[in-house]
Amino acid sequence: MAVTMNDFNVKEKMQWCPGCGNFGLITAVKGALADLGKKNEEVVVVSGIGCSGKSSHYLNTYGFESLHGRTLPVASAVKLANTRLTVIAEGGDGDGYGIGVQHFVHIMRRNYDLTYLVHNNEIYGLTTGQASPTSLLGMKTKTTPWGVIETPFNPILYAINGGATYVARGFAGEPAHLKELIKGAIEHKGFSLVDIFQPCVTFNKLNTYDWFRERVYKLEDKGHDPKDKKAAVEKAEEDMKTDYKKVPIGLFYKEKRATYEEQLPQIKDSPLVDHEPKVDLKKAYEEFM
Ligand code: SF4
Ligand code: MG
Repeated sequence: MAVTMNDFNVKEKMQWCPGCGNFGLITAVKGALADLGKKNEEVVVVSGIGCSGKSSHYLNTYGFESLHGRTLPVASAVKLANTRLTVIAEGGDGDGYGIGVQHFVHIMRRNYDLTYLVHNNEIYGLTTGQASPTSLLGMKTKTTPWGVIETPFNPILYAINGGATYVARGFAGEPAHLKELIKGAIEHKGFSLVDIFQPCVTFNKLNTYDWFRERVYKLEDKGHDPKDKKAAVEKAEEDMKTDYKKVPIGLFYKEKRATYEEQLPQIKDSPLVDHEPKVDLKKAYEEFM
């Protein structure tokens, strides 16, 4: 029987605020998994802390809610343990580009075959509205009552230059387009980042659905070539350079490079879970019991 989006529903009621961009985002994830014919047990969703952290609870797959900013090390460990699994890491802009940014930098160099979806609402939502690394200059929040004075973190630019092999940005207000980007990310062999504009309707009164709708355009409609790194870098800077009059979404950059896993002689032919332990684990268990 064909896999459908409903196969990834859970019974638990989703506790996100009505109208939150996370609803469009999770719809796109379910659609991507269904279109790719993924079985529930083939997928592991690892989340961090924040409103995005609920993702691993709200998808009927294997799941792991990790610590704040530690989504990527946990996701990469899952992948190393069983390379057959489809591993999706989900975090927020505070979680992934703030406290967890060092993991983001190093995971891109390593090129694990996993997908990273960042719920980028340009604010700390769960802790009720503090400026995050991606909050725009001048934005007034609880922690920046006179406006943000730090240059916003540009995840797309960092990812292209940092070695990510699939770099895309979507908008939760366009779930059909976002679904295609997520499908491409899951199918890509290597580390994929999909940074997702996810309006926080409760605490971010600047970057609303209307704000994005007036500004976003699709790279593919303008003939952008994702193999062209120089053009990708230029597009990554376009939002800031145009004072957010033009904000591109779509696939910025894609390249083929050997993954970390396939270069490890120990697991390149068979997943670690299939190996017989070479040490006597019973002894170790006894020692620590
Ligand atoms: Fe969504 Fe913001 Fe509510 Fe969190 S606080 S659930 S991000 S609208
Ligand atoms: Mg956030």
